[in-house]
Amino acid sequence: MKAPKTTLIRGGKVVTGESVLKQDLLIRGEIIAESNDLSGCRADLEIDAEGLLVFPGAIDTHVHFNDEFMGTKSVHDFFTGTRAAAYGGVTSIIDFSNQAPKESLLSTIKNKEEEALGKALVDWGVHPVITQPYPETLKEIPLVVEKGAPTIKCYMTYREEGLMIEDDDLASILKQLKKAGGMLMLHAEDNNIIESNVSEMLRSGKTSPIYHARSRPPEAENKAIRRLLRTAEKTGGRIFIVHMATEDGVKMIAAARDKGIDVLAETCTHYLIFTDKMLEREDGIKWICSPPLRSNSVRDALWEGIHNGGISMVSSDDAAYSWDAKLLGAKRFDKCPNGIPGIEPRLNLLYSEGVSKGKLSLPRFVELIAVAPAEIFGMAPKKGTLSPGSDADIVLFDPLKKWTMNCNSLHMAADWSAYEGIKITGKIKKVFSRGELIIDGEKCLAEKGRGRYIYRKLKKGTFPFNRKAVPLK
Ligand SMILES: [Zn+2]
Repeated sequence: MKAPKTTLIRGGKVVTGESVLKQDLLIRGEIIAESNDLSGCRADLEIDAEGLLVFPGAIDTHVHFNDEFMGTKSVHDFFTGTRAAAYGGVTSIIDFSNQAPKESLLSTIKNKEEEALGKALVDWGVHPVITQPYPETLKEIPLVVEKGAPTIKCYMTYREEGLMIEDDDLASILKQLKKAGGMLMLHAEDNNIIESNVSEMLRSGKTSPIYHARSRPPEAENKAIRRLLRTAEKTGGRIFIVHMATEDGVKMIAAARDKGIDVLAETCTHYLIFTDKMLEREDGIKWICSPPLRSNSVRDALWEGIHNGGISMVSSDDAAYSWDAKLLGAKRFDKCPNGIPGIEPRLNLLYSEGVSKGKLSLPRFVELIAVAPAEIFGMAPKKGTLSPGSDADIVLFDPLKKWTMNCNSLHMAADWSAYEGIKITGKIKKVFSRGELIIDGEKCLAEKGRGRYIYRKLKKGTFPFNRKAVPLK
C-alpha cells in the first residue's frame, strides 16, 4: 500500500531539540509540509494525537547486522533488524560493514546494498570499518566519503579477531579522513591491558562472566582515549568515540573539546540501565558486552555526562547473538560473543528511565535519540527534525501507558532479552517513515525493501553539534 497523499496529525505535543509545542503536523507525500495550528485543514488521513507526544523518528547510528564475530553471526539482518527498529520508533539506522581481508573499502558499501536489497523496512546508511590499512585502502577513503559514507570506524582492540588497528595507522587514516571531509569512529580499549588480564584470569581459573568486566577495567578504555586524543590533536582530524563507558572519558572529552580538539562521544542504553552486578548472576553471559557494564558510580557519571554535554548521544550498539551463541561463553567468558540485542528498546528505556523518572527533559531526550545523531552523522536536516521540508519520520507516543518489557513484548530476532521484566512507562503507538505509516500499534505495515540508502555528508568546520545540554526543567 502506498502512503496517502496527505496525512494530518492533530493536537499532539510536538517535541523537538528546542521545544515542546502543541501543534498539528501536515505530511504531504514523504515530507513534512507544515507544523502549525491547522484546524481548518483537511487531509486524506487524519489522526487524533490528543494526549500523545510527537517525536522525530529515532536514529540509531550503531548497529551490527549480519555481523560475523567470535565464531558466530548476529541474528539481525536487514529485515529482522529494521523490523525491530521500526517497532522501537527507529526510522534510520547506520550499520557497520567490516572490510574483509584483501577486500576494497568500496565493497563495504556494496555488500550492505546487497544485504538490504528487498529487506530493509527503514532507511539505512553504512559506516565502513577499516581492518586492513593497506595504502590502497587509504586511497579509497575519499571514494567512500563521496558515496555518502563519510564515517569510518576502527577498533583499537580485538587483535585476535583481526580487527585491531595500530596507532600509526589510525593517524594515517585520520589524516586522509580530514582531507576528505570524514570522521573517524573508534572503539577505544587498550588491547595490551585486556590481553594480559584475560590470560592472567584464565590461568588462575577465573572464567565466569564477571571476569569479562574485570579484564577490561575503566583504565583500559581511558588509556586508549588518551592516546586517541593525542592523535586527534596532532592531526586536527575529527573523531567520535563509540560506546564510551567511563567517568574519566566524560571528563577527558569535555576538556579536549574546550581545547578545540574535534571530538565527541556517545554512550549506549545498557550502560545507563545496568551495572556489572548483572554479570554476577547465573545468566550473567546475557550482559557480556565490550566495553563492559561498570559500577553504580560510573553509571551515574554517564548520566551526568548526558546532562553536562560530555556525552552527545545514546545509541544501542545492537549486537544480537542467539542464545546458543551466547552459551559458547557459559564456561569461559572470553568465548562469549560480546553484545546485547538493543535496537528496539532504546527509545522506550530512555523515555522511561530518563524522562519519566525526571533525569531528562523532553527536548534533551529528542536530542539524544534523533537530533544529535542526524547532525553529527550528516543526515540533517532531512532526518532528526520535524521541520517543514524534512522527511516525515515521526513517532506518536503515549507517555502514560505502562507495560513490562520482555522477550515476548519486543520484536527482536534473538531468542532472549537482557531487558526481561523491566517496568516501562510510555509506549510507541504509531511510526511513520517518509510519510508512510509503518507501525500501527502491534502491526507492522512496512513492505520489505522499502528502506532507502541514506546519502550522508558531514558539515564543515568544527562539530556542528557542540552546544551544551538543554538543562532539565
Ligand atoms: Zn558496536
